[in-house]
Amino acid sequence: MKTIGILGGMSWESSADYYAALNQGVKQQLGGLHSAKICMLSVDFAEIEQLQHAGDWSRLAEILARQAVAVERGGADFLLIATNTMHKVAEDVQTAINIPLLHIADVTAEKLIADGVKRIGLLGTRFTMAEEFYKGRLSEKFGLDVLVPDNTQQDEIHRIIYEELCQGEVYEASRKIYLQIIDDLFTRGAEGVILGCTEIAMLVKPEHTSIPLYDTTALHARGAVKFALAE
Ligand code: GLU
Repeated sequence: MKTIGILGGMSWESSADYYAALNQGVKQQLGGLHSAKICMLSVDFAEIEQLQHAGDWSRLAEILARQAVAVERGGADFLLIATNTMHKVAEDVQTAINIPLLHIADVTAEKLIADGVKRIGLLGTRFTMAEEFYKGRLSEKFGLDVLVPDNTQQDEIHRIIYEELCQGEVYEASRKIYLQIIDDLFTRGAEGVILGCTEIAMLVKPEHTSIPLYDTTALHARGAVKFALAE
């Protein structure tokens, strides 16, 4: 079994879900007392969030690259960045290390393609919804047609992620807002919606809607288990 490297803490709420999902995935495959081999480095998210909103992505790239080198030295065979947003600096991270990075958008796209989905809605932080590093990868590398919410909706989604979900707070009122936006994307032609922020599955679950949801935390963890157990 390969050792899974994780850059975590962004936020720790979702890193805890990753940790559980990776161990459950390995136990499901191997049974008994088996668990995942993991080397995780967890950051102080307050520092990361400040630099994100200050637009200092070169400093963020430096920080994550340095952490990735430490995770590689700690024995990881491959790396997960346990957040969609921070894949904005995925190339800098990959350049700094000699182990492969399992990109969260790639494992998500592979599932969409396997399901025959062509047009997909995307929820995430404003960075993920508005910029090209994520939706551009989905469309250019995988030929997916990506729909994002309008500006006002993006502001609400973004605010709820940082002010509530990343702080472990889950409110019914916020769930309603998300479900309305998911409905709007469906009405615009999306065949499903990517929960493209690793905390959204804390708020919106398949039992809340009949529209297919693609939870990036679960898909990333599943992809990692498969990679870790492959020959
Ligand atoms: N975990 C979130 C994501 O998947 C947002 C927190 C962050 O900015 O990294 O994008």
